Amino acid sequence: MRRLKVVLVVADGLGDRPVPELGMRTPLELVDFSPVADLLSRSALGLWDPIRPGVRPGSDTAHLALFGIDPTNNYPGRGPFEAIGAGAVLNPGDVAFRGNFATVSDGAVILDRRAGRRIPEAKELVEYLNRNVGEIEGVRVEIYHATEHRVAVVFRGPGLSDAVSDTDPHAEGVRISESRPLADDEAARKTARLVNSFTERVTRLLGECPLNSRRVERGEPPANAILLRGAGKMVKYPRFSERGELSVERAAAVSATALVKGVCALLGFEVLTPEGATGGVDSDLMSKARAAVELYRRDYDLVYVHIKGTDAASHDGKPHAKVEMIERTLRALSHIVDNVDLGEVVVAFLGDHATPVTVRDHTSDPVPVMVYAPGILTDGSSRLTERDARKGSLGRLRNVELFGTLMDYAGRVEKFGA
Ligand code: ZN
Ligand code: ZN
Repeated sequence: MRRLKVVLVVADGLGDRPVPELGMRTPLELVDFSPVADLLSRSALGLWDPIRPGVRPGSDTAHLALFGIDPTNNYPGRGPFEAIGAGAVLNPGDVAFRGNFATVSDGAVILDRRAGRRIPEAKELVEYLNRNVGEIEGVRVEIYHATEHRVAVVFRGPGLSDAVSDTDPHAEGVRISESRPLADDEAARKTARLVNSFTERVTRLLGECPLNSRRVERGEPPANAILLRGAGKMVKYPRFSERGELSVERAAAVSATALVKGVCALLGFEVLTPEGATGGVDSDLMSKARAAVELYRRDYDLVYVHIKGTDAASHDGKPHAKVEMIERTLRALSHIVDNVDLGEVVVAFLGDHATPVTVRDHTSDPVPVMVYAPGILTDGSSRLTERDARKGSLGRLRNVELFGTLMDYAGRVEKFGA
């Protein structure tokens, strides 16, 4: 069977719903598709449910499914992926939590679960803690700043468990909870003990920190504790080269978003952030397109391009910015298509999940998908709106089915049966 290369371009949060500001049209219905109209007319369209109908995907779970790993049975929870999104490189066995800076009284009673939410010195506080917390019972502790008051905390060492309770009581006016083992084994007991020592140490260090004295002088609540929740133990994901059912040896990803870069790295992609790529609406998408073409020309079987700005515009509730971002993405896609041999490549364009601008968050709506492959039975549409996608011949694919379909068009899946 002839093996083709695969180029996959994702506009994060692409799918949408009718927007009053756009005359009840979706952003895609306002988009000028002319740069890729020819490609679209030679493609098949369809819808993709990243997880399954009714499940709202995160970008992490959606990307796992996009690359053929069903997150239903292979997801350690948000803790580890929050840490990856904040820049951590996790190893299997590491236990990670999501956390908040909080304000507590002298008696560890929680006065504000978010320490006022606005913490401009959060990064400095995290650096201060990373210099001073050190190891606990031989286990390395790393703290990462996420956004605003949010952090991720990673415990790295042997014999850890994620079967421990939160220290965040999810309420104010009560004391920080003690972490308890939720399994009857030494790993859970040890991890709960570590978490409680961590909480004590962090509360003492933050209480003495001059950055907090300055916050108090300015009349702001001190960020003098970290509340932890959602423990998760990092799992081992198979690299492409370890997946016997697939023949993908080398894969490369172009992205500027820490979470997506982290997921791709876990699956064995070589990850690249070209100059000018930011992960925001100001990103240089042509720079990403040029990088993708260069990777395609080298011996990568799979080249992935991730564009985040569409999701950012959606979370901000800005439909016109989303339209513009999609159009810029299509021009980047067009540059890629102009520079590859359409006789030897499968090209897909889609979203990783829907982020309707009216909702400003991810929803479970299926996302539009376009698949080009040499000799594919085409739909003949020159647009890829949600409505066009509904009529597409690919139908409605779910979870890992899309990746399997793409790999099959590329001649890269093993036969099931004799
Ligand atoms: Zn996403
Ligand atoms: Zn998002």
